[in-house]
Amino acid sequence: MTVTTQPNAELLNRLGEVRHDWTREQIQNLFEMPFMDLVFQAQSLHRQHFDQNQVQVSTLLSIKTGACPEDCAYCPQSARYNTGLEKERLLAVDKVLEEAKAAKAKGATRFCMGAAWRCPRDRDLPHVVDMVRQVKSIGLETCMTLGMLSEDHSKALADAGLDYYNHNLDTSREYYDEIITTRTYQDRLDTLANVRKAGMKVCAGGIVGMGEERKDRVGLLMELANLEQQPESVPVNQLVACAGTPLEGTEAIDPFEFVRCIAVARIMMPQSHVRLSAGRENMNDQMQAMCFMAGANSIFYGDKLLTTANPESNSDMRLFKRLGINREEHIIDDMKKPEPVNNHLFYDASALNAEQAASQ
Ligand code: SF4
Repeated sequence: MTVTTQPNAELLNRLGEVRHDWTREQIQNLFEMPFMDLVFQAQSLHRQHFDQNQVQVSTLLSIKTGACPEDCAYCPQSARYNTGLEKERLLAVDKVLEEAKAAKAKGATRFCMGAAWRCPRDRDLPHVVDMVRQVKSIGLETCMTLGMLSEDHSKALADAGLDYYNHNLDTSREYYDEIITTRTYQDRLDTLANVRKAGMKVCAGGIVGMGEERKDRVGLLMELANLEQQPESVPVNQLVACAGTPLEGTEAIDPFEFVRCIAVARIMMPQSHVRLSAGRENMNDQMQAMCFMAGANSIFYGDKLLTTANPESNSDMRLFKRLGINREEHIIDDMKKPEPVNNHLFYDASALNAEQAASQ
């Protein structure tokens, strides 16, 4: 049975601060709050920093699939596991641009490109740099996830205009060796430091439901929030236990525990976008709505999330419409004006709210 307790007044008084001195005990206390109180706190803080009816929408494209030398136990792209995944070489820049245009036409504001590499090789870099330039030229924000990144590679990507770099910590320091042995926790932190130093925004989160305990979820969020600068984007993934990976058959995490993770992430990193990421296809609409209530305000939108299924774009739009959620617009830095919204695709919640108010 889950034990719930109210946190002490000192902790409650500090909620809302962007803090880098979180202790395990304080985070544990948040997790142990009665569920309704936790979600209420998270939603209240969320409203201080964000429009509660807006969700940022990204599309993710796998630009190089499978045959990865790393051994991440959850990943169907590792060459070490027989998952039946069809491998693909690095996509041509033209193909990536075509996909980016299609994503933009469907309403995405950020285009994320992922390659199954330990790290990019020098000879790959000109291609990925070109991809960044081309995708940016059509007015999309760009994000890449290419594995570990050196200082030089970080600088080259930043110089090309890459906005975000994704590199997850995956889990707590203590549980990490159960999941990956081919790179260390420190390797990951070094990549995040290189990305920051180059001036890019950081997207870093983890995966829950990999057989870890709550103390590991506490440890993961503590690492992320206590970084010198908190990540601008924090993906919270729910394990998709892919056939053929060592985590196949792992018991699913309790949905309320997942919502707790979202709420605690929102409270600890009040100015970051908390991204409802992999695993969304296993969540019904009510569960997703609960995650938005707990402070999630970013999703991947499109047919595929790297190699696992993602709810079809239009089912996302139907859900947004039912919840009165709008897509978050973004500002293109060098143009200083908002990107036009594809209104035929997106429901205008504010217009409906005004209509409803007028008829009352
Ligand atoms: S998660 Fe990334 S690094 Fe790990 S095996 Fe998969 S593609 Fe490779």
